[in-house]
Amino acid sequence: MNSAEIRQKFLDFFASKQHQIVPSAPIVVKDDPTLMFINSGMAPFKDYFLGNKPAPYKRIADTQKCLRVSGKHNDLEEVGYDTYHHTMFEMLGNWSFGDYFKKDALEWSWELLTKVYKLPKDRLYVSVFQGDASENLQMDQDAFNIWKTMIAEDRILMGNKKDNFWEMGDTGPCGPCSEIHVDLRTDEERAQVDGKSLVNNDHPQVVEIWNNVFMEFNRLADGSLVKLPAQHVDTGMGFERLCMAIQGKRSNYDTDVFQPLIQFVAKEAGVVYGENEKTDIAIRVISDHIRAIAFTIADGQLPSNNKAGYVIRRILRRAVRYGFTFLDFKKPFLYKLAAVLADQMETVFPELKQQLSFVQRVIEEEENAFLRTLENGLKRLDALEAKFKENNNTIDGKTAFELYDTFGFPLDLTALIAREKGLKVDEAGFGVEMEQQKNRSRNASASEQSDWVIVQPDVTTEFVGYDCNVSDSHIVRYRQVKTKTKSEYHIVLDRTPFYAESGGQVGDTGYLVSDSEQIEVLDTKKENDLILHITAKLPQNLEAAFRSGIDFERRNYIRKNHSATHLLHAALRKVLGDHVQQKGSLVNEKVLRFDFSHFSKVEDAELREIEHIVNERVRQSIPLEEQRNVPIAEAKEMGATALFGEKYGEYVRVIAFDREHSVELCGGTHVYNTGEIGYFKIVSESSVAAGVRRIEAVTATLAEDFVQAQLDELHAVREVLNTQSNVSGAVQKLQDDNKALQKQLEAFELKQLSGLKDTLAQKAHQLNGVSLVAEQVEVSNADHLKKLAFDMRQVVDNLILVLAAEIDGKPQIAVMLSDNLVAEKNLNASQMVRELAKEIKGGGGGQPFYATAGGKDTAGLQAVPGKAVELVKSMING
Ligand code: ATP
Ligand code: MG
Repeated sequence: MNSAEIRQKFLDFFASKQHQIVPSAPIVVKDDPTLMFINSGMAPFKDYFLGNKPAPYKRIADTQKCLRVSGKHNDLEEVGYDTYHHTMFEMLGNWSFGDYFKKDALEWSWELLTKVYKLPKDRLYVSVFQGDASENLQMDQDAFNIWKTMIAEDRILMGNKKDNFWEMGDTGPCGPCSEIHVDLRTDEERAQVDGKSLVNNDHPQVVEIWNNVFMEFNRLADGSLVKLPAQHVDTGMGFERLCMAIQGKRSNYDTDVFQPLIQFVAKEAGVVYGENEKTDIAIRVISDHIRAIAFTIADGQLPSNNKAGYVIRRILRRAVRYGFTFLDFKKPFLYKLAAVLADQMETVFPELKQQLSFVQRVIEEEENAFLRTLENGLKRLDALEAKFKENNNTIDGKTAFELYDTFGFPLDLTALIAREKGLKVDEAGFGVEMEQQKNRSRNASASEQSDWVIVQPDVTTEFVGYDCNVSDSHIVRYRQVKTKTKSEYHIVLDRTPFYAESGGQVGDTGYLVSDSEQIEVLDTKKENDLILHITAKLPQNLEAAFRSGIDFERRNYIRKNHSATHLLHAALRKVLGDHVQQKGSLVNEKVLRFDFSHFSKVEDAELREIEHIVNERVRQSIPLEEQRNVPIAEAKEMGATALFGEKYGEYVRVIAFDREHSVELCGGTHVYNTGEIGYFKIVSESSVAAGVRRIEAVTATLAEDFVQAQLDELHAVREVLNTQSNVSGAVQKLQDDNKALQKQLEAFELKQLSGLKDTLAQKAHQLNGVSLVAEQVEVSNADHLKKLAFDMRQVVDNLILVLAAEIDGKPQIAVMLSDNLVAEKNLNASQMVRELAKEIKGGGGGQPFYATAGGKDTAGLQAVPGKAVELVKSMING
């Protein structure tokens, strides 16, 4: 059975058990501060488990893209070394939201594995939660009894809290679970060692494939467990491991999920996979990491220097480094692999193929940048080699850490290079530096969040902000969040007009007002689908009736900017082409910012055209066509632009301004008529990353202000030039005149300089066979001083020349000697100038025959010639 059939059979099986099959959510999480990436199949359904929102179906099944590289689930360091943990993997899952429970879940999993996939029963083991006294939890007797009807009792293992109590994160839904493990060893191996003893023991061929979680509890911030309102089933089966089991392989990488990637990398590197442990690991790392990299970028996350972007950057660098070190890839290579993956996944996750050239571009640019960094790091190591040799042949912890921190060199890479150079690395010292940095960032970001305090139980919340700016509201729940610098409250209301920051649009601000008090809402944010009103204080009376009202004027500007963003998006696609994909946006009361995929600078003429199209739409006063609760398929049929990486429900909101022109899936707030935008003006166009451009624009009065400011500036220039027409011509003429004058001045000054030279030459005193000239002169710049000195040398033999001058308000001295004096009399211009510079409180130097000095005390200049005469006398006589 190939992997595509295996995946399909899973979905078909659960569809036959009345499950709704849904698409995978994007891998990058947007509206949940506790999670950066989807790390399990259940994460997109968190709200249903927490009771924040009713589940649209009682039964759901899907294959979900997951990433386990940060937070509670982090498998990164295993990846490549073992054969069954990946960064990105697919989790096949089926869910019951308050519907079926343990019996159906376990029986179906057994049916699917043994009847549909025909895995031999004597290779399967299952586990059951044994209970935990410290948590006051009993053994899962129900699960045990159910398994007993299907599998021999000695294949049912008891598992502790670590293995058999599943938790999504530090807080949140959790419960006992029952795992299914498979033993893929040969019969010979199995005869020698009982598989039972290898379960949950990190054996590469005895692995967990499926976990059935019975979600019963919610873990609170204080660590305690409370029962969830209803009981749910959440299962997750690793797709790649399942393929290994069904295809009878000993490694996930030997299945058809990975082989195309593995073979491509091996071929590129000119090695054979399976011949050398070191290159094998590198090939596995790369084949794994490209999946995480490509899918996160396709889902809208660009590599960057913080948060999710930084995680991606690190994974990419890890892949590059393994290629660089073990496969001798000195040029970008990962981006090529993205194409292999895109073809392979086209039918399951088409988003990659659809954006392939963009994704490749981003990857290649990142690779190039990191390869340069690697090279610089290597140079740095070379430069410090002598120092390390002195330091007992050791690279000190600080340097190793600097390489890690600024050059992205992990410790093992530094160690590897060190070995090649016959050096060691102070790993303990590195650890100390690392720990210090961790403490620094921990202290900076530590925040403490209290549990929710429920004011009104079982009340759902309603957003009314599309239709109203004020509403009657009651507080449903609240919590406090403290960081080092501030304390704030998150308040949830039963009904609210406040738009929570999302889809690029900023959150509303405003007030909650009751009979006795007024609370300012500083911002509004989303956590999954909860709307959090952020305030600095809590109302005294939490149960009061409130009028909640947004800052309407601010919202009004935001609406205009948001609608203008849609018009801009449509105009961009029209002018630049359909490859334009939204890659981010910001809409606030001042500006709108739109990032989009496009490979070159948007030319001025194109910008003008885009701007013109938008303003045409504005002038046409197109009415808003807003439709709520449109089935997603229908919305797409209307031609609505869906964004990659955006999580859409089954019913969506569609915003159109003339269906022929702009139709988008959007939750934001908009003008009722494009005429409200008034005027649209682009203020800048720039690059944000490889293949991503940014346009910033303003609307309405702010656009007017912007244009007016430009005109004011122009007006001011006209005034100064005293011309009404052809301003640029006038400026050009000014510049030309200026150049001509400059030339004249230069010629004049040179002539003067030549006269000065003659005058000085006549002033030479003869002193013991030398011609001494020591004078204060007037020259306009340092070049002229130098020229004068060099010209004097041509006309006066046995010259000792000392010139003092004020240049740009600062004192300067130049000393020039004829070569023969330097050679025969052992005179030195540098020494002389340093001595003379004392008069002007300064210093300097140069060559033996010519030296200069600058100083601070201009008044001291006049003493320099006299001092020079004395100095020369003392030198020649002495
Ligand atoms: P393990 O102990 O092997 O790391 P787990 O207990 O972390 O697994 P769960 O969180 O229960 O796994 O996830 C459900 C299923 O997802 C697992 O049974 C396994 O098949 C699969 N899985 C988990 N982590 C990975 C991973 N990093 N790569 C591939 N598959 C995974
Ligand atoms: Mg794990």
